[in-house]
Amino acid sequence: MKIATIEQFFPLPRVRLVKITTDSGISGWGETTLEGKPQSVVAAVDELAQYFVGKDPLRIEHHWQHVYRSAFFRGGNVLMTALSGIDQALWDISGKHYGVPTHALLGGAVRDRIRVYAHWGIGSLTDEGKAAARQRLDMLLKKGGYTAFKAGPGGKWRGHEPPSMIDEFVERAYLMREWVGPDVELAFDFHGKMTPALAVEVCHEIKGMRPMFVEEPIPQENVDALKQVADKVPFPIATGERLLTRWGFREVIEKQAAAYLQPDTSHAGGITELKKIANMAEVYYMHILPHCAIGPVAFSASMQVDAVVPNFLAQEQIDQGLGAGLFVDDWVVRDGHIDLPTKPGLGFDIDEKVAQVTRDEYSEELGGEYFYETDGSVADW
Ligand SMILES: [Mg+2]
Repeated sequence: MKIATIEQFFPLPRVRLVKITTDSGISGWGETTLEGKPQSVVAAVDELAQYFVGKDPLRIEHHWQHVYRSAFFRGGNVLMTALSGIDQALWDISGKHYGVPTHALLGGAVRDRIRVYAHWGIGSLTDEGKAAARQRLDMLLKKGGYTAFKAGPGGKWRGHEPPSMIDEFVERAYLMREWVGPDVELAFDFHGKMTPALAVEVCHEIKGMRPMFVEEPIPQENVDALKQVADKVPFPIATGERLLTRWGFREVIEKQAAAYLQPDTSHAGGITELKKIANMAEVYYMHILPHCAIGPVAFSASMQVDAVVPNFLAQEQIDQGLGAGLFVDDWVVRDGHIDLPTKPGLGFDIDEKVAQVTRDEYSEELGGEYFYETDGSVADW
């Protein structure tokens, strides 16, 4: 079996797909969405296609090593996202070739269903804000029985903020706890917007509502600074959606700068690398909470790893992760879990008529230009 063609599709904002077809007629799908950088990854996939066409799709590790180590320059978001999507497509082909779900080729499932968490929060304390939040909570509980949710403080955070801004977020966090009760877990994504000192201050203000974790309390570049925060906060800290490969996670793991890791299967190196990162983390008793804020193919690929690693805690799921009209059958969430995928490969059938239509240019998908109103300087999105 040889790779015959590599095609790319751009059906939705934050959903860019690669389809690899073999000379035996089997096709595999991967997701190459790099949020906010649509054209760069398209070019990278086109370059890599020159290597892949004519190759045996089943030699996944060999191809991963070649792409990562060849041509001297390694890593980076663009190359790793291209490689991640291709890696997913090759695992899809492998599963379909052998007639088993991909997780069966990764050592076999260690669980019968996969816990997911949804995005929900009280975004505003106005009557309209509370009504909208209540409506979405009721919908998610009714539809999926979720047992964990994640929200953000949102907004723009300067080096420090007055009590009113911190208190407003704290009030929303405690109200969320009041609404869901003690059996549901609540997490908060600080989106890497705060300084270490401010992040610690805010974390101490919300500790009484017992968060599941705070994600990216500070930006990702400085692991020592993250460890300082984690050491001063009395609940788990998570990070990793912007880290790539085992080498990118190594320092966080070795310094134990976070409790939970959030590699993204479309950025960190695909299914191949996500499993290896999880295995490294296991040695330090860290769990993985794989990041997935893009489309349903990446979500499906992530679940194949979630199925096989013991130190998995919960899978991030945004609404379009379940299918977004691209899948013939959407994933179904019951009691906050999705049943173990059973179809060969990554476990879905794509509606190609939908996938082949490009709907937008997506240049503003990560917020576009973002400045503080107070002085016009650059803010973190
Ligand atoms: Mg995040």
